[in-house]
Amino acid sequence: MEVHIERGRIRAILPNALGVTIRTESSVFNFPGSVLLPGFVDSHGHVIGFGTRLLQPSLHNATSAEMCVEILRNATFPDEGWILAMGWNETNWIGGRIPDKTILDEYFPDVAVVAMRVDGHSSWVNSEALRRAKLDSSTGILYETETQRVLASMPEPSLEELQKCITLTGDYCVQKGITEVHDMDVSPRWIDAFRDLAERGALPIRVQSFVSAQNDEWALQGVLPSGGEFHRLAGTKLYSDGALGSRTAALLEPYNDDPSSLGTLLLTSEQIVAKVSKALDAGWQCIAVHAIGDRAARKVTDAFETIRRLPNGSDVVLRMEHAQIVSESDVERLARLNVWCSIQPSHAISDAAMAEQRLNSIQMKNAYRWKSFIDAGCRVAAGSDFPIELPDPLLGIDAFVRRIPHGANHSWYDGECITVNQSLQAFTSWGHQAADLGYRRGSVEVGFDADLVVLDTNPTTCKPENLSGIRVLATFVAGQLRYCL
Ligand SMILES: [Zn+2]
Repeated sequence: MEVHIERGRIRAILPNALGVTIRTESSVFNFPGSVLLPGFVDSHGHVIGFGTRLLQPSLHNATSAEMCVEILRNATFPDEGWILAMGWNETNWIGGRIPDKTILDEYFPDVAVVAMRVDGHSSWVNSEALRRAKLDSSTGILYETETQRVLASMPEPSLEELQKCITLTGDYCVQKGITEVHDMDVSPRWIDAFRDLAERGALPIRVQSFVSAQNDEWALQGVLPSGGEFHRLAGTKLYSDGALGSRTAALLEPYNDDPSSLGTLLLTSEQIVAKVSKALDAGWQCIAVHAIGDRAARKVTDAFETIRRLPNGSDVVLRMEHAQIVSESDVERLARLNVWCSIQPSHAISDAAMAEQRLNSIQMKNAYRWKSFIDAGCRVAAGSDFPIELPDPLLGIDAFVRRIPHGANHSWYDGECITVNQSLQAFTSWGHQAADLGYRRGSVEVGFDADLVVLDTNPTTCKPENLSGIRVLATFVAGQLRYCL
């Protein structure tokens, strides 16, 4: 295929039996024997969070609380006296017990330590961090709103620090063929950092910002939707519950491994409707609401049903982020209401063993649904939820198609696997549609934006076990070469 690009858009497409040729106004790039696809979109990530993950100590591979402390002791930190780290996951530890603050206090008596659990919904902190956040906890394990409070006590990152995080994330993404991300939970305080990079042509990827709405952040800071080629304020983001790993996902039936708990519902349907209608009145066109447990999914679906009946709610983009456990009756309603299910296939791969503990067999049947969503007519957009997982669509496609958990050798609930073509759509055209941009992105077509990825192997014809080994040879964003192997 030979593609001619003019002013960032595809001007012409010609046949080319030898591979891929890209012609821009100033250059010609040849990639013999390769295949060209629309650039990937990661429909759910956290740009600043991933940059932070790249800069801060990672606890992802630790196998004990002691090992976490060892990693923290060996890391270097800024002067402010705060240590932020991410990624611990007690379900991967020997013994599998949640840690407590004692060991942190022993090694860090004066420095405030905040170690985020891998799901970002709970944290392990020491007494100094509790003192500075004016919180009290006998264990040093904080959930949801308390975790938010301790994070809010930390010093604000400077514009330069934010921009370092953004460019690090963007540079990582283009290496994986990602040309656009839907950035979730964007603080109004970060927006200038994105805008300034975009205006200087220094934003490596396109970013659709979904601004925090849980505490009306966008409204309080006077942030309104705005368009832009590389950075767009696209929508608002709410949370209706927590996460399965932290047992804060809101379930209809109690947790299998804690019969006293139904998880934490953070917003009622009425609260969701009120917050969303305020956003619609201000002109926001894309509404994203996080729901992991089936009780949260029920409440969000109820709210979306009401919102669809509002005069300005009938044709906006409504998205359920994660949609991790959804009852059969709600799947049908989501399809009928044209709701986008924004799903992260790699979560199933990482979560399988943990989910089997947390959920009973009925809940399990409704968990990590992919094929049943598509079969029911639900719209699906795919992402990774970086920094929780890595932004890597080929890993996501491998998860979608083979669904083999880490450490396992066969598919997990293989009835939910989807095809390579469906997976590619979820990471391209369907993803763009979930930000209302499907009319100009997500397809190699004349008139479409020249957001393109060149791969060394065709995912639609290679063996499924080779999907994750496909190499990205080049990534073009708006016709500009942003990565070349
Ligand atoms: Zn997320």
